[in-house]
Amino acid sequence: MTMKTGKQYIESLRKLNPKVYCFGEKVESVVDYPLFKPHVHAAAMTYELAHKPEFQEIMTATSHLTGKRINRFTHIHQSTEDLVKKVRMMRLLGQRTGTCFQRCVGLDALNGIYVTSYDIDQKYGSKYHEHFKAFLQYVQQNDLMSAGAMSDPKGDRSLRPHEQDDPDVYLRVVERQSDGIVIRGAKAHITGSINSHEIIAMPTRAMGPEDRDYAVSFSVPVDTEGITLIFGRQTNDTRRLEGELDAGNPKYGIVGGEALIVFDDVFVPWEQVFMCGEHEFALELVETFAGYHRSNYGGCKVGLADVVIGASAWIAESNGIERASNIRNTLTEMVSMAETCWSCALACSYEGYQTPSGGYMINPLLANVEKLNITRFTYEWMRLAQDIAGGIIITLPSQRDFEHPEIGKYIDKYIKGKKGFSTRDRIKMYRLIENMAVGAGLPEAMQGAGSPTAMRIMIGREANIERKKELAKVIAGIREDRYFQDITQMKEDKAKAKGKNSRK
Ligand code: SF4
Ligand code: FE
Repeated sequence: MTMKTGKQYIESLRKLNPKVYCFGEKVESVVDYPLFKPHVHAAAMTYELAHKPEFQEIMTATSHLTGKRINRFTHIHQSTEDLVKKVRMMRLLGQRTGTCFQRCVGLDALNGIYVTSYDIDQKYGSKYHEHFKAFLQYVQQNDLMSAGAMSDPKGDRSLRPHEQDDPDVYLRVVERQSDGIVIRGAKAHITGSINSHEIIAMPTRAMGPEDRDYAVSFSVPVDTEGITLIFGRQTNDTRRLEGELDAGNPKYGIVGGEALIVFDDVFVPWEQVFMCGEHEFALELVETFAGYHRSNYGGCKVGLADVVIGASAWIAESNGIERASNIRNTLTEMVSMAETCWSCALACSYEGYQTPSGGYMINPLLANVEKLNITRFTYEWMRLAQDIAGGIIITLPSQRDFEHPEIGKYIDKYIKGKKGFSTRDRIKMYRLIENMAVGAGLPEAMQGAGSPTAMRIMIGREANIERKKELAKVIAGIREDRYFQDITQMKEDKAKAKGKNSRK
């Protein structure tokens, strides 16, 4: 089998037996647990759309390893066109689910490790890349969903991994054996992990020589012995247990679904290890993975913006105010911000480059600008959605009241809008806006793929302020205008930067 359908993905999860806890109880079946169903359905969409002929071009790709048609979520980008198709896929899925569909983290981990394991092998003559390619082929053939696990709990942030009181607050190798390594520690806030097949771990920060036990990357099946997943709460999460009308987005949920993953002396065979001790490559893997993941947000979150803009316009219409100039201006403002982020997603993809491994990387400056814009603009367009919808999104009575034999009629009468719009539909749309504009999606837009500070550091590093100072000096007349020399210099700088980026 190369490409699973949504149903086959769900069935494949039944064959796994991960140790998952939620609300203090052990979850017997991830697929059937009511709180998890929306997350599973959202991820299933990444499988389902790959079978629609109209979306084949962006949802599928040709494997560079086997020449077979595969789901793009298991593909190593082979061109800038691939990078562009990836963000188009993200926007499409955001539009179809209205939430986080989770599978991108694993895709970015595959691409990040592909690039970095090649570079490690070049330096050390190790076999990480070869092992990784065998794993990748297995992922492609079985169309697996992988959870990319990067964030460590981190303990005292002022201390490096090896300086911590508790050595386990960063994931580490506790034992090296002839056939594999033993891992202890945890990864936190890991999106989609309960409903993934594999967990791919990566280091979370730059590491020094004393941190070499922490410079580790590997993959294990989610139900490997010694792994425990503890599911995190989300704003209004139990609403989905209370009724379809109260849930907001009953089929696909609020946001990705994150878990704390504990590794209690987990054995990983060497074939599944992609970095072990090469501390100087930890930062490369972090930045490559983060660059890919940041480039996604102008796709997925803009897909969500499309949904919330549509919901706001619908609500305005049902209130009879769709022609009011303030409503039209507000909707235009929302579109403008969303398309700005989308432009960044396209730009960082078109400006991508080939790495020595052959895989393509996005332009890191533009991807970090993109994600920084997302941390601001998402709040802004959701604020404007709240503005159009009004305070009712936080005062609306419950489904049980609406369906109550005695008082339901009052809600129907007083929540009514313009003729032609049912009160039931209006409640659904208000709840959708509440879900998207007030819920956990906001901090996710802020912190997912790294905090704004992480982006500012990367932007500062990539910005080449010195060069800009030279340009200003010429214009101010402080320095001689050597236009043609400058152009040559700029070309050289660019070639140098590209060499540095592609780590040639
Ligand atoms: Fe994918 Fe976006 Fe969710 Fe990240 S936040 S996993 S990029 S849908
Ligand atoms: Fe995310």
